[in-house]
Amino acid sequence: MATVIGQVECPACGHPKAEVREGKAGTATIYCGECKAQTWAKSPKASSGLRSRIAAAGGAAKPPADDDGNWLRKL
Ligand SMILES: [Zn+2]
Repeated sequence: MATVIGQVECPACGHPKAEVREGKAGTATIYCGECKAQTWAKSPKASSGLRSRIAAAGGAAKPPADDDGNWLRKL
C-alpha cells in the first residue's frame, strides 16, 4: 500500500498538486491525477530531493488553515 506523503508540481504537465506517494522500502513516487504521469525516485538522492520539495511546497503535515479570523473562540 502506498501512502500519500505530500504534493509537488507534476514534472510532466506542471499540475501543482501531483501526489507524492511512499511505497514499500520507502521509495517515493509522484503520481499526477491530472495527466496520469508517474515518476519514481530510484535513488536515495532522488528520494530525499523529492521530500525536500514537499517540505518547500508545504505539502505534508500542514495544519488546516485557521483563517476564520475568530481567535477569540480559542480563549
Ligand atoms: Zn501531470
